[in-house]
Amino acid sequence: MMPAQMQSQIKPSTEQKSHRPVVAIIGGGVSGGGVAYHLLKLVGSDIPDIVVFEPRPMLGRGLAYDTVDPAHRINVPAAKMSLQPDDPEEFQRWIEANNAVRDDPEATRENGQLFPRRRVFGDYVGSLLQPFLKSGAIRHRRLTVTAVHRKTDGWVILDDKGGLTEAEIVVIATSHPPPAAPGRLAATLAGHPRFIADTTKRGALEVVRPQDRVLVIGNGLTAADVIASLARNGHEGPVVAISRRGLRSRGHAEVPQEAFGDFITEPAFSATALLRKVRLTIRQAAEQGLSWHAVIDQVRSQGHDVWRALPVAERRRIVRHLRPYWDVHRFRIAPQVEAVLDMAVEGGRLEILAAFLADARIEDETIRVTLQPRHARAKVDRIFDAVIVTTGPAHGGILETQPWLGELARDGYLALDPTGLGLACSEHSEALGPDGRVISSLLISGPLARGTFGELMGLPQITEHTVFIAREITEKLKDAARHNLRPISDRSVVL
Ligand SMILES: Cc1cc2nc3c(=O)[nH]c(=O)nc-3n(C[C@H](O)[C@H](O)[C@H](O)COP(=O)(O)OP(=O)(O)OC[C@H]3O[C@@H](n4cnc5c(N)ncnc54)[C@H](O)[C@@H]3O)c2cc1C
Repeated sequence: MMPAQMQSQIKPSTEQKSHRPVVAIIGGGVSGGGVAYHLLKLVGSDIPDIVVFEPRPMLGRGLAYDTVDPAHRINVPAAKMSLQPDDPEEFQRWIEANNAVRDDPEATRENGQLFPRRRVFGDYVGSLLQPFLKSGAIRHRRLTVTAVHRKTDGWVILDDKGGLTEAEIVVIATSHPPPAAPGRLAATLAGHPRFIADTTKRGALEVVRPQDRVLVIGNGLTAADVIASLARNGHEGPVVAISRRGLRSRGHAEVPQEAFGDFITEPAFSATALLRKVRLTIRQAAEQGLSWHAVIDQVRSQGHDVWRALPVAERRRIVRHLRPYWDVHRFRIAPQVEAVLDMAVEGGRLEILAAFLADARIEDETIRVTLQPRHARAKVDRIFDAVIVTTGPAHGGILETQPWLGELARDGYLALDPTGLGLACSEHSEALGPDGRVISSLLISGPLARGTFGELMGLPQITEHTVFIAREITEKLKDAARHNLRPISDRSVVL
């Protein structure tokens, strides 16, 4: 509940409550913007007041599609990235209709697949939202939410300009927090001008000089982005990329393939059984001339059912032991980026190591790093001019990334998912309190709901999830209307 003393500090309501129910969406990336868009397509005539809090100038971009770096490309072919689950090729057609890659001949592969720059996808989502923004059906509030408090018949949202908004339903769609530098690294290297802890900050890589010896911590898609960006910026020095297993994100299949396999009819009930089933299906796919890509695509598309069949302990085992392998096969790099990395490896400019960082210290202008290689006893010391953290968003510590999230948890309205992948939520994507209470009017959209829904990171699954959330909200609003707009009450469930 909102502390009494705060009520007097808040500016007079900048957001007068309308007679229509208010749906407040916190975060206007694809997960937030998508919910607003599909909600409007679903609700019919009883349109709620939809308010999206997003400090970025445009809705629909979020972290991934707001980048201006031309080296950053979508990592799923355009034909599979759409805001319409029943029309997967809409984005591809939009590109063609708008000639959106006219200044980017590299966007098209020989096999016809399109991998445009990520910003182009943001333009597409923005174009779908634009008419609703123009008509006022969606109100974009370019503000950062700083607090969310419960009141008897809904929620009170405070923003960084001192405004207050009341809402019946709140959707948390803030997804990707900044990356967390490992261990003591952030404190030890904080003073060094070329220690880059957060590559999502615009211009973060500009401090790297052309001949610098660079250490990249991480080997996933962010690392690939960084290495491609450095190459594009004219960096020629050696790059070492480390991760515990030294696994690198794989590329796409040469020829597009249909998803292959069935992981639903006889679901696996343990991590080991699932792994066995995936391996067997890959062998069966090979007999039909298909590669592992087709099988992983099927696991991904059936991911929710696969995940649901697994007990929490088995989900945890997957996160602990199999996730690194899953991530490098499931998050594939765009072919153009893959080509840059391959060339760098072949030219001896990029070294990929299975190692973890044992120590690091600043020595004059350089950084001395002690690495512990995976299968060696002896540690090795290396000298670098720049260290870049690319370990990806720190979802496991989500409750500590924004004070209001932590506060909601302390008040009993949010909890960390038991797998550590994000926020605990019900099968309806409603937030769960630490005691298992379902907070019916607080929903989680996008990757933060992964602990319950399994694979929920790539666009195809995110799009489906936004439609799902929009449907849930529509039902809740109908229900509330039937009961004379009585508040949407919390439920207790036994977990
Ligand atoms: C770098 C990167 C590249 C990716 N590339 C692809 C790709 O090519 N293809 C693919 O399928 N998937 C890709 N993904 C996966 C990605 O999860 C989804 O595609 C999608 O972008 C997730 O969007 P989102 O809206 O859930 O999250 P985000 O993009 O993180 O959006 C959350 C938004 O919330 C806002 N926000 C946060 N806190 C507050 C607050 N307190 N108040 C108000 N607003 C707030 C932020 O400003 C942000 O815009 C990529 C992910 C990353 C991180």
